[in-house]
Amino acid sequence: MKLIDTHCHLDNEKYDIDRKEIIEKISKTMEFVVNIGYDFESSKRSIELAQKNSNIYATVGVHPTEIGDNFSNENYMELKEMLLNEKVVALGEIGLDYHWMTKTKEIQKNWFRKQMELARELKKPVVIHTREAIKDTIDILKEFKDIYGVIHCYPGSYESATEIIDNYYFGVGGVSTFKNSKTTVEFIRQIPLERIVIETDSPYLTPEPFRGKRNLPEYVEYVVEKIASIKEIDVETVIAITNENAKKLYKIGEK
Ligand SMILES: [Zn+2]
Repeated sequence: MKLIDTHCHLDNEKYDIDRKEIIEKISKTMEFVVNIGYDFESSKRSIELAQKNSNIYATVGVHPTEIGDNFSNENYMELKEMLLNEKVVALGEIGLDYHWMTKTKEIQKNWFRKQMELARELKKPVVIHTREAIKDTIDILKEFKDIYGVIHCYPGSYESATEIIDNYYFGVGGVSTFKNSKTTVEFIRQIPLERIVIETDSPYLTPEPFRGKRNLPEYVEYVVEKIASIKEIDVETVIAITNENAKKLYKIGEK
């Protein structure tokens, strides 16, 4: 069964030397990957990659460390136009990042809410980034009860997850394989497989045994193995169910 990477950044400069080879390999060995935009430029690059390759899909959005001061009408129009592209499957990654704090909490919340409103207008799922901001993130997500999506690289507890479990999938990636990943391992044990999607966040967060090196979408294999061992089920079941989840999330391959 072929694997899916629901969150990667193949437009990153770390792939400039061998992007073509990597994408060729993906087209032969993987079902599809979703390339995630994090600002206006990367969103454009994401669409370009998706238009050239049938098994790459794109998302567009502005990450909380990449936002400006005000969310302008121009920003809105630019995002909206990109979101109408047929290979764009979601709005994101958007959210809150209180670790880097590049902008104040208020500015971050404003961009987050404005982009959530755009997702509502265009009926798109959202890809959420949250770092050291779980409570505020969940509070804002709960304001938008008609929106669904994925919390990428979910850092919280199962208990927090239950607050939004009806609308959200939870992205599990390389962190689950790290030696100090107690919270994530406990989370995986408790969350139903039906709410998990697999991701790499390539080129970041490389799983064991390659931790520290450049990440690749094909390394979802190690994440799948880790989940199978934590949940004491076979790898094929993990792939079958999480692939199904990924297709539902991004509405890919539905009739
Ligand atoms: Zn990412």
